[in-house]
Amino acid sequence: MRRALLLLALSAGCLAPIAAANAQASSPRLYVLYCGDIALNDASSFTPGASGPGALSDTCYLIRHGQDWILWDTGLPDSLVDRPDGMKSNAGVWTSRKTLASQLDEIGLKPADIRYLALSHSHPDHVGNLNLFPQATLVVQKAEYDWVQPFGGPRFKPEQPAIKLEGDRDLFADGSVVFISTPGHSPGHQCLLVRLPKTGALLLSGDAVHTRANWDSHRVPERNFNVPQSLASLDRMAAVLKETNAQLWIGHEVSEVALRRYAPDYYE
Ligand SMILES: [Zn+2]
Repeated sequence: MRRALLLLALSAGCLAPIAAANAQASSPRLYVLYCGDIALNDASSFTPGASGPGALSDTCYLIRHGQDWILWDTGLPDSLVDRPDGMKSNAGVWTSRKTLASQLDEIGLKPADIRYLALSHSHPDHVGNLNLFPQATLVVQKAEYDWVQPFGGPRFKPEQPAIKLEGDRDLFADGSVVFISTPGHSPGHQCLLVRLPKTGALLLSGDAVHTRANWDSHRVPERNFNVPQSLASLDRMAAVLKETNAQLWIGHEVSEVALRRYAPDYYE
């Protein structure tokens, strides 16, 4: 009996540090990734009432949940780093000084380690590096997935695994990674609510809102897919922020993104 108790005590003593190490290895984290810069010819194209040129940052986020990695948006194409003058878009010029792949590498990850490729929506400044992650499971709203390209054809490769959401979804059923349906900027736009143990709750905006000034003034770009639906989504976001006591992180807002700690640093 004494021997059995001793063995039990020894095994408990051995197990404790392993359990602690496992908990640490899988504790939730969020990394902020630089995903490019957008110079706008005319700031009013995203901020009604503004005048003159403008700028938007492009931000992606990487979330660790247990053994799973979730990438939220993929930013502008990594190939831009080889083009110092950038690339013209319909609203301005895109540039990038650091690739998404190199930032994953600094964290010790390969693109193949990403399990879920979660997208706010399918505009080109958010899907520029989809081709790096052919094995990852897309998590998008069905309305976005089914939205045909302007000149016809699908937005996503049919062979890529996909979870097509119809409304909100708590991905792991523990409240830590929750998709919030916010249509309007595009047909199936969504935001992401992330709950972290130390930082608290964060609502990642996608393009439901582009700038803090737009949020404060409750206004949306006239070029949005559906303006009334966009305004209703702002109300939905305000309700979520209140309900969860979350911070709103606006990925295109230059002044706010500049204050973030970028990867390989992270938020817990
Ligand atoms: Zn965008």
